[in-house]
Amino acid sequence: MGYKVVFEQANAILAELSKEYDIYAPKRFSKQGRYSDTDIIRYDLINKVEDIVFDEKSDYPAKEVITPITQSLFYFTEDEYRESKTKNKPILIFMRPCDINAMEHQNQIYLKNGGFEDFYYKRVQDRVKIVLMECTSGWDTCFCVSMNANKSEHYSLAVRHQEGELMIEVKDEAFAPYFADAQEEPFHVEFIEKNQIEVTIPKIKDKATLNALKKHPMWQEFNKRCISCGACTIACSTCTCFTTTDIIYNENANVGERKRTSASCQIEGFSDMAGGHSFRPTTGDRMRYKILHKFHDYKARFKDYHMCVGCGRCTSRCPECISVTATVKKMADAIEEIEAKGEE
Ligand code: SF4
Ligand code: SF4
Repeated sequence: MGYKVVFEQANAILAELSKEYDIYAPKRFSKQGRYSDTDIIRYDLINKVEDIVFDEKSDYPAKEVITPITQSLFYFTEDEYRESKTKNKPILIFMRPCDINAMEHQNQIYLKNGGFEDFYYKRVQDRVKIVLMECTSGWDTCFCVSMNANKSEHYSLAVRHQEGELMIEVKDEAFAPYFADAQEEPFHVEFIEKNQIEVTIPKIKDKATLNALKKHPMWQEFNKRCISCGACTIACSTCTCFTTTDIIYNENANVGERKRTSASCQIEGFSDMAGGHSFRPTTGDRMRYKILHKFHDYKARFKDYHMCVGCGRCTSRCPECISVTATVKKMADAIEEIEAKGEE
């Protein structure tokens, strides 16, 4: 069922929904951006439609609602522990199709990985319902179409933003009562069909090619360019790595809390082992690991799709202007060169 609601009506509906749901959407934080006088757009609680940023891509992904950058897992004393508390209130998140597809990858890692379910992820994810934000034009770093992440049927409501009004598609009947007084108008959400950037993800045909690619000099370029800041992975819709830290409250080392915090494979020391061995000591090694993970290894393991959803946030956030799509193209060229040498 479709509806057209002016902002005033939309805000009355949001007020009703807020009684049942915590509602999150991309929101502008004025003058909190990377450079002076710049804003940042990230997910936060909203209570009126004017809070929602529809016409710019959020700098940080929707995943922050479910997996915040840092969170307390449990509190401990000498002989017992207690899990951190969470709210029981359901959550409604405004998400673009790339972020919804990214959430499927997060589900794969946190809930379907080797039969293990992450308790802290599941207790939030179980409460999530989605409002799909129509996205038909994208931005200059987006390549969701190339990654098959431009569409999704996984939503309860869908919304199109127009001047002073919203078009709403109600897919989940549980939400129909909120629109009982709204003007019905046919509406079905549309999806972007072409990005400014198109990328063909290269196939790696066998182990010999993969091994040769790992040793290819193309990765060494990043020893000079990448500064290992990790900004790309923190902004990434699909990265899931985290580290845990025990915070000790006082001189008694057995009383405290365990926190988990987003970690980055791009940062020095990420792959260090006890005894001091590091698997990926250079920035080039770490870039190779990230790119192969997003565009080969994840799919090789889970079969259905590549991990990257083409949101382009890593490119937008990199202070060294390292483009993920340009890197994939370089990888494709390297694979072509390796295959050509193999045929000589
Ligand atoms: S690798 Fe880059 S483009 Fe792909 S999902 Fe992560 S942030 Fe988005
Ligand atoms: S954001 Fe750029 S410079 Fe920072 S770790 Fe990622 S690729 Fe390297």
